[in-house]
Amino acid sequence: MSSGRRLYLDGVSVVFDGFRALNNLSLIVEPGELRSVIGPNGAGKTTMMDVITGKTRPTAGTVNFGDIDLTRMDEAAIANLGIGRKFQKPTVFDALTVFENMELALKAPRGPLACLRWALTGEAKSRIEQALEETGLQERAEDLAGILSHGQRQWLEIGMLLMQDPELLLVDEPVAGMTDAETEHTAALLVRIAGKRSVVVVEHDLEFVRALGRRVTVLHEGSVLSEGSIDHVQNDQRVIEVYLGR
Ligand code: ADP
Repeated sequence: MSSGRRLYLDGVSVVFDGFRALNNLSLIVEPGELRSVIGPNGAGKTTMMDVITGKTRPTAGTVNFGDIDLTRMDEAAIANLGIGRKFQKPTVFDALTVFENMELALKAPRGPLACLRWALTGEAKSRIEQALEETGLQERAEDLAGILSHGQRQWLEIGMLLMQDPELLLVDEPVAGMTDAETEHTAALLVRIAGKRSVVVVEHDLEFVRALGRRVTVLHEGSVLSEGSIDHVQNDQRVIEVYLGR
């Protein structure tokens, strides 16, 4: 298990023009944990991610990462603490190879001079190789990102985020549009990269969440409706009503 920091949302509310997108949401993600967050459209999943990364300020409540209060910090400062986010749409460079995309992700935060002048040391190379292995892209290292499949592009972007060695990785709907085989690969990949770091995955594909096999939080109307194993939440009458009772 990781000795890292725990994420703690305590009574977080977000109100947009009188509408409560988050309503007294409390959530703890332990260091090294892989947590799935599910919920119907409009449940507040994206808003929760926005609050953790500082994109949206809570109207009430606090967000803590270890003993650091993130509640009033800006996005850049939060990212610098080691909190990375993967959005649904990948932002890889099609005209560069998979390896070059990883290299850029490693150097770019150090500025343009690092990109131009900084020769890859053995250590940097081995970090890229490790990320290629973790994401299952070793065989594609020399291929242009532009010819990758949809799934491979998503894995490449996860690999690029790993270049910053995040302590907490937030992943938005990673398997939307993937084939079954790609979905399976993605579940194994996320299980592999958690442990050393915490991972929070927002998804509405229940089968994918089952494949992850870890603790699940169900959001509904901006707060936690149910939490526990996938079997526990799938058998929870309140969850059944929200998913099937409409
Ligand atoms: P989810 O990701 O679970 O689908 P969201 O967090 O995107 O849910 O949205 C929760 C609710 O908040 C939705 O009803 C949405 O319309 C509303 N909402 C989200 N962002 C804004 C905003 N910037 N202004 C007004 N309402 C918003």
